Amino acid sequence: MIVKVFSAGPLETNTVLLACSKTHKAAIIDVPFESVPLLMEEIKRNSLQPQMILLTHSHWDHIGAAIELKEKLKIPIYIHAEDAKNLEAPGSDGLPLFFPVKGGVPDHLLKDGQLIELGSLKIEVIHTPGHTPGGVCFWIKDEGVLIAGDTLFQGTIGKLSLPTGRPHLMWESLKKLSKLPSHTRVIPGHGEETTIGAESWLSDPEKKFGG
Ligand SMILES: [Zn+2]
Ligand SMILES: [Zn+2]
Repeated sequence: MIVKVFSAGPLETNTVLLACSKTHKAAIIDVPFESVPLLMEEIKRNSLQPQMILLTHSHWDHIGAAIELKEKLKIPIYIHAEDAKNLEAPGSDGLPLFFPVKGGVPDHLLKDGQLIELGSLKIEVIHTPGHTPGGVCFWIKDEGVLIAGDTLFQGTIGKLSLPTGRPHLMWESLKKLSKLPSHTRVIPGHGEETTIGAESWLSDPEKKFGG
């Protein structure tokens, strides 16, 4: 598997380029502002064949250039139904937009437990509401990698105080993630990588965040 992570845009949001090393079929996970030139260069350099854009959630810092990339590559966009509306009408989630964000209709809606094939890779969708209602993580079980969006970061979790926050759902989502193998590499939506084992408080988040 080929995995490249770049951070781009005003909030240094991570965009992940994931590809099957046998077929060179590729997926782009989250598309922040200013990420398109970086992605296009890397796609060309590795002779990748982009197949799809997967979105962990619909906050503007993750979808900023998603429609631009979709139009450029002519590939479908996937997002969970509960975050789809804000992709169609950016800002409808109640978060202030500091820049105009181009919206668009998703091509496919993601479901918990869904398996997406990318060449020989299998990407499992884990619905992890909390930071947003339709937040998801993408788990490549055979490779031991989780792309976590803004659900889980190194040493902390995604903001729950935004209008999209659902604190009571976040704890259940974290408990779900705590059941993944401890060596699982976690690539978050911002900042450095971690592992499930390094975030061992996950199974009892009240301990860290005081309920
Ligand atoms: Zn977010
Ligand atoms: Zn973010």
